[in-house]
Amino acid sequence: MAAQGGSPARRRVLAQPGRRREAPPVSIRILLGALHEGRCQLCGFTFLKRDGQPYYEVHHLDPDLGHHPKNLLLVCANCHAQLEQATVTGCEYVRGWLVSLEINGVFFSVRQPLLADGDALLSIAFVLVFASWWAARLLPGGMAPVR
Ligand SMILES: [Zn+2]
Repeated sequence: MAAQGGSPARRRVLAQPGRRREAPPVSIRILLGALHEGRCQLCGFTFLKRDGQPYYEVHHLDPDLGHHPKNLLLVCANCHAQLEQATVTGCEYVRGWLVSLEINGVFFSVRQPLLADGDALLSIAFVLVFASWWAARLLPGGMAPVR
């Protein structure tokens, strides 16, 4: 039997079924979708919706850590369901980025394109996304092309 008040459990968790989470902002979903070309970071699967855009879902590694890209995985519906419902173990991180895990004992390498170039690329991407978001709201004609 586990003792109460013992050593604290590791903060990072991958799934807490039934727990309600706030969806990430649209700007972050767009950034992640572009970064990963809509492909699942675990299995690489994607498909195009009727509107021609790739379908993907965003999983929070730790629901309490917010929407930082290190806390988010772009995944397909199948992998998302496994992350939420199956047994997830063996999570390995490099500089805060999840790089591998096991789902029901099956090893997955996590695609992390920002890991190689680090936080500089991430910062540039965020500036570009938020600059275009503000431009769409502040400039006459929104995101209409300049002629
Ligand atoms: Zn997948």
